[in-house]
Amino acid sequence: MRECGGCTACCKTHPLKSIRKAQNTWCPDCLIGKGCNIYADRPSGCAEFRCQWLMGYGGDNERPDKVRIVLDYHTMEAIGVPALMISEVSHGGIEHSFAKKAIEYGFRLRKPVFVQYADGRQKIYFSKKSFSFVVTREIHDACVQARVEMEYYDDL
Ligand code: SF4
Ligand code: SF4
Repeated sequence: MRECGGCTACCKTHPLKSIRKAQNTWCPDCLIGKGCNIYADRPSGCAEFRCQWLMGYGGDNERPDKVRIVLDYHTMEAIGVPALMISEVSHGGIEHSFAKKAIEYGFRLRKPVFVQYADGRQKIYFSKKSFSFVVTREIHDACVQARVEMEYYDDL
């Protein structure tokens, strides 16, 4: 069973409504690279969150703070199916070879891949080949309204 150890990546990448923490900002209680300053009393959302690396995806040396992306799942209401979500811990994380592997992994699971960039941009990738998802006019409009870019990814 894996443990977070010195990783605190999701304490930056993920929003936390209960303490009004926005995405892509460090939680004020985070001891960056060490852990949580209020570990025993941390919000239930933190205690329950388990990224895909913690669940076993990727190698031991591919911990989110090392590869600079966090993987989990996210369901956009407009799309209605969970997408594999990739959250950049810092700019350029999406360029890491691990991120490319993760995108292909999402498509093998027949899921779209939702990327949350460190600069706040959001993009949803649909596979050109392995994902038979029909992007309806409603889905297209919902993405435009939510300012989520869309791209068809030329996967293998
Ligand atoms: S990103 Fe994963 S490994 Fe890192 S602190 Fe969060 S749950 Fe733990
Ligand atoms: S409360 Fe603790 S575990 Fe939760 S985001 Fe803040 S530092 Fe991380």
